[in-house]
Amino acid sequence: MTKSKHQKFATAAIHAGEIHDAQGTHIAPIYQTSTFTFKDMAAVEAYSDGAENSYIYSRGSHPNRAALAEKLATLEGYQLIQDAKAAGNNEPVVAAEIFGTGMAAISAALLGTAQAGDHVIAQDVLYGSTDHFVKELMPQYGITTSRAKDLTPEVLEEAFAEHPNTKCVFLESPANPTMILVDIAAVVEIAHAHNAKVIVDNTFATPILQRPLELGADVVVHSTTKYINGHGTLLGGAVISSDIQLLEEKIGPLIRFFGSVPSPFDCWLTNLGLKTLPLRMQQHNINGMQVAQFLEAHKSINFVNYPGLESFPQHELAKSQMDGFGGMIAFEVAGGYEGASKFLDRLKLCSLAVSLGNVDTLIEHPASMTHGDIEPEIRAQTGISDGLIRLSVGLESAEDIIADLDQALG
Ligand SMILES: *Cc1c(COP(=O)(O)O)cnc(C)c1O
Repeated sequence: MTKSKHQKFATAAIHAGEIHDAQGTHIAPIYQTSTFTFKDMAAVEAYSDGAENSYIYSRGSHPNRAALAEKLATLEGYQLIQDAKAAGNNEPVVAAEIFGTGMAAISAALLGTAQAGDHVIAQDVLYGSTDHFVKELMPQYGITTSRAKDLTPEVLEEAFAEHPNTKCVFLESPANPTMILVDIAAVVEIAHAHNAKVIVDNTFATPILQRPLELGADVVVHSTTKYINGHGTLLGGAVISSDIQLLEEKIGPLIRFFGSVPSPFDCWLTNLGLKTLPLRMQQHNINGMQVAQFLEAHKSINFVNYPGLESFPQHELAKSQMDGFGGMIAFEVAGGYEGASKFLDRLKLCSLAVSLGNVDTLIEHPASMTHGDIEPEIRAQTGISDGLIRLSVGLESAEDIIADLDQALG
């Protein structure tokens, strides 16, 4: 929450993984190439022996992707890397793979961790496409899945008792779209006691506000489409893990052989966006809090879910698990669908659009947009009501965002 907590990442966000080539280019070039030439067979042999900074074909890797992977691993594994260095360990302790979309990263993380015959326990509320993947697609590959409400310790223990073949627990905290939090360390303790891995979708918090690997989670996934890139210009995803073997042997092959790779230009843009992430998150925290307080005080709002509000049921968990509360808010306007729809139609500054984490404010109606595919009964059970609005508070002046929301609430 303090300035220094975010600023400790500022140098890594700007310098980690940067490419310094022989020409002395200050900013990395975009390596817009499908293949890489070898000078001779000796160079081919050096590549086969695992020579560093050596590439063969861009589906395997390319310099812009490697640079982005190192920057993200450095941020998500910040403390683990510092601790390893202090202990004299120079082996990689956290590594990353960069994907073409967040869903490519999530599906690879899940399919790399659980195979046919295994079980996966997932949180009840999930991003719409992840929900679909877990519910509809994983069973087609022989992996059974079940959902655990809020992933509380009691519910999770019951789920493990029911499914002893569980290989992993998948969660989002804060969850999309309801902003419900999961106690990551508590889930890790239970899952590890049952020899299961924990995968955390850290898209809403970003490594600046929350580092699940430091809390014991095995794998972090991101839609880099959102805050990490921050400017709404591309789709991207990442898997970051402290389990190097799992990443290299199980998850890595899924990007190479399924081929869901990002382009050099998209990696270059994401790397550029990531440089200002610590600074952006600092302001998202400030704007998020101001907008949440405004909404909470408004008479046409039934409730506001923002981890930074004292009224938020999991505020204490938020304070202990996160270094700031970010720019995502869920709230319910009075009047159900009608009320929500009138409010959204009147907005002028805030854009009615899915996606989130951009420099500008985006707002959406989960029940008919991001979570429209989920059955109405399940939506009702998980808190995705017809009046629920998801707001991604941008970096405009908070006063202007509030003025727009105020006029639309009428
Ligand atoms: C957007 C999003 C995803 C999916 O990412 P894509 O880049 O759209 O594939 C996954 N999880 C969360 C929490 C998201 O917000």
